[in-house]
Amino acid sequence: MSVSERQSGSRKTRIVMKFGGTSVANIERIKSVAARVKREVDAGHEVAVVVSAMSGVTNQLVDWCKEIAPLHDAREYDTVVASGEQVTCGLTAIALQELGVNARSWLGWQAPIVTDDAHGKARIVSIASEELDKRFAQGQVAVFAGFQGVGPDNRVTTLGRGGSDTSAVAIAAAIKADRCDIFTDVDGVYTTDPRIVAKAQKLDKITYEEMLEMASLGAKVLQTRSVEMAMKHRVRVQVLSSFEDKPGTLVVDEEEIMEKELVSGIAYSRDEAKITLTRVADRPGVAAGIFGPLTDANINVDMIVQNISEDGATTDMTFTVSKGDYDRALKVLEGSRNTLEFKDLISDKNVVKVSVIGVGMRSHAGIAQRMFKALAEKGINIQVISTSEIKISVLVAEEYTELAVRALHSAYGLDAA
Ligand code: ASP
Ligand code: MG
Repeated sequence: MSVSERQSGSRKTRIVMKFGGTSVANIERIKSVAARVKREVDAGHEVAVVVSAMSGVTNQLVDWCKEIAPLHDAREYDTVVASGEQVTCGLTAIALQELGVNARSWLGWQAPIVTDDAHGKARIVSIASEELDKRFAQGQVAVFAGFQGVGPDNRVTTLGRGGSDTSAVAIAAAIKADRCDIFTDVDGVYTTDPRIVAKAQKLDKITYEEMLEMASLGAKVLQTRSVEMAMKHRVRVQVLSSFEDKPGTLVVDEEEIMEKELVSGIAYSRDEAKITLTRVADRPGVAAGIFGPLTDANINVDMIVQNISEDGATTDMTFTVSKGDYDRALKVLEGSRNTLEFKDLISDKNVVKVSVIGVGMRSHAGIAQRMFKALAEKGINIQVISTSEIKISVLVAEEYTELAVRALHSAYGLDAA
């Protein structure tokens, strides 16, 4: 069936319902997932379900692989870790059938969800939807194993940790779903981490761009890649709780949000480490000389600042890498000491990146100033600043994480009444 056919006349609402690990943690939970799905079916909707592995299962499977061999064949790793989702999708289909719902399970290779061959972090290339369309028309619910696909080598692949979110959004895009509901153990996306700020508020709506920043800055509600995919294909995503029956947070296009807040959220990431090279030569090619070897070593550099040159000959270069890459980065830089000719290498792991995010920043001045003032009032020193169109990030000492996040949450009027 073509899109235009589906859009004309008797088009049924089509939804994807994705359930994370805690939502399918045991048989009782799987039964209540089935009941939740049945409600949508009874409401006359066409439904595709995507499930994660039961909570804890993927960790266990990953550990087993490592226990046998720390460096193992990535194809066999995928064979092992994809099994968690195979169990839950079969069980969910059985639970639905028990409720009288016409349902069947789909593994990645069956749909098929075709990916590239980057085992352990594969990207989805295509999803065939013709057969699914036929079955939706017959009233059948499709229950997908999230997280998995099939590669060009005809082997099982997985999409990286948290990848079921991406499976769900990709399926929603492929079947042109009206909505992709991501059921989880929190009831939506918050203005900041509620564990740090008790007055954090649930957002009714957030734009793709903001969600992307929040996800990549450490708000772990959605896998970052799922948000990229939703933004690209304009999939309406809702994050909501499977434990409570109330609306969650909608991730949508900017045009859909009438009253845009200047700032929508405060995010933080402890996964940063700061490195400074002093007295590097101030001439063309030096930045390329520093970052080239890091790139070759597959080390991602995040914030970068280069000072002006005081003496006209040398300058200081400061940048951040993730804590996981820190030791390797130091090694790479020490290894290039002779060619780079820097004076000292100063490094610091006790830093946190705190960011203020909001699409309203594009059109309003003074947002950064408010951030700097709020931090100054708490005596927090800013070490590095970086900005993008909708985000201002600062690097501060890690011990100030909570204080900084709370101060900024108040400064932008985000505290709940
Ligand atoms: N089960 C996989 C994981 O734990 C995929 C997912 O749940 O999204 O990472
Ligand atoms: Mg998840």
